[in-house]
Amino acid sequence: MKIRKEILHNVFLMEREGRRYLMTKSRYPPYYGEKKVEGYREWIAGRSKFAAMVLNGHLPEINHEWKVLYLGAASGTTVSHFSDMFDMGIIYAVEYSAKPFSKLLDLAMERKNVIPLLRDASKPETYNGIVEKVDFIYQDISQKEQIKIFSMNTNIFLKESGSGLLMVKTRSIDSTAEPREVFKKVMDELKENELRVIRHGTLEPYHKDHFYTHLVKK
Ligand code: SAM
Repeated sequence: MKIRKEILHNVFLMEREGRRYLMTKSRYPPYYGEKKVEGYREWIAGRSKFAAMVLNGHLPEINHEWKVLYLGAASGTTVSHFSDMFDMGIIYAVEYSAKPFSKLLDLAMERKNVIPLLRDASKPETYNGIVEKVDFIYQDISQKEQIKIFSMNTNIFLKESGSGLLMVKTRSIDSTAEPREVFKKVMDELKENELRVIRHGTLEPYHKDHFYTHLVKK
């Protein structure tokens, strides 16, 4: 294993036999079957859109003390790495499906900076009293209404200085149309939002027909 460099707080870009991959420095055991070597857990890009985005060359500016609202936490694969990365912050992890949520609860028992919420992200009013204003909103929900859900949450929870990452699965919005055309419509829809896109791109080859969009308050 060769550590090349720390590219984000507690996130390391590694290289072995020509393969580039990420690891987070972690004091916790492996969580989803990833390798752990010498205090570093592999952040598998095929299991996490954030890791795929970073390996595709986009490094968002983050601060490890940030408060984060994470929509579509599932069982916490990416949340576990966010917990390493935002080690002095808080991650409010919203998931509405009971099965993955039960595993997310195990993660939260172990990690004090993860607050799990069994809630529907399209009803932000149901967690408005629990989640405070955040610095960063990350959304990864494969749903037709994903743009509307993102807007509703940013309007309520994002600080004036905040930013967001929206992971878009085009097939969930329209399964028959050409993915790039669907993404173009998403970008048009986002122009009506109170956020400004600062960078976007594909998540391939790690996630087929997926794109990322990084936004800041205008
Ligand atoms: N972000 C996860 C990761 O990287 O580890 C994977 C998320 S998975 C692609 C999408 C998740 O979003 C599913 O677990 C699904 O139940 C959840 N989801 C979809 N719509 C939702 C909603 N309206 N509110 C909360 N969770 C939702």
